[in-house]
Amino acid sequence: MRYININRLTLPDGWYARAAAAKAAVEAGDSLDDHADVWRDLKHNMADLFPNEKCWYCETKCVRDDNAVDHYRPKGRVRDAINPHSGYRWLAFDLNNFRYSCRYCNERRVNVKGDTEGGKADRFPLLDESKRVYNEGPCDEEFPVLLDPCDPTDWKLLGCQLENGKPCSTSQDETDKQRVEESIKIFHLHHEPTCKARHAEAVHFVQLVKEAKQLYLQLETELAGHQSFKRKAAEILTAMDRSAEYSGEKHFLLRAERDSRHPWIQDLLEA
Ligand SMILES: [Zn+2]
Repeated sequence: MRYININRLTLPDGWYARAAAAKAAVEAGDSLDDHADVWRDLKHNMADLFPNEKCWYCETKCVRDDNAVDHYRPKGRVRDAINPHSGYRWLAFDLNNFRYSCRYCNERRVNVKGDTEGGKADRFPLLDESKRVYNEGPCDEEFPVLLDPCDPTDWKLLGCQLENGKPCSTSQDETDKQRVEESIKIFHLHHEPTCKARHAEAVHFVQLVKEAKQLYLQLETELAGHQSFKRKAAEILTAMDRSAEYSGEKHFLLRAERDSRHPWIQDLLEA
């Protein structure tokens, strides 16, 4: 996961007026689906915010899939609400509630082998259910359990295990861990084919870091090695670039490689 600045989203001409008209029509009795084109029309603009049509939740490239605009706060019912909740309908046309998502993260699915299941659908748990908002109004008091790619800090909480590519928490804080563990299940981030793909990327990435470390330690004795080290560092940056799959998890793996003999790693993390 990486941070997505949704404020950078460019909109089609007249979009705000269309959204306001749709919201008014729904309040007057129209169904949400009658106006689904209001959010669907932003799909390609949203895809452009994150290179390679990657899902904002799982960072998988979905070039042959039909990605969707997910409503972070569900527009229909909310399964986790303690009282019947007909959805955050007033946010159905609010672009701050839109996330670009693959179908595995967005739709309820069971893996072919039947060993994992997930998909967000109507899930939206809160850390404190008593703060749940049921009617139109600010949701600032709600603390969502689900990691949010549009939150500037959430993305750093999600890492992966080098051993097998399974997603994991990067934090030891109990609340952070709870949020990550629930997010893994609800976004189906432990889906086996995704873990395999993440594992292959992680192993390759850590190998690059090892090679760069060897080259760096040789620099004191071999001036000629500078170019080799720089090329390897550039490869690491490319592999961890926002355009690459699972770049947030690679960022986590690189953070774990920091030590006093390799100050260049911090430079790459901040590049
Ligand atoms: Zn996804």
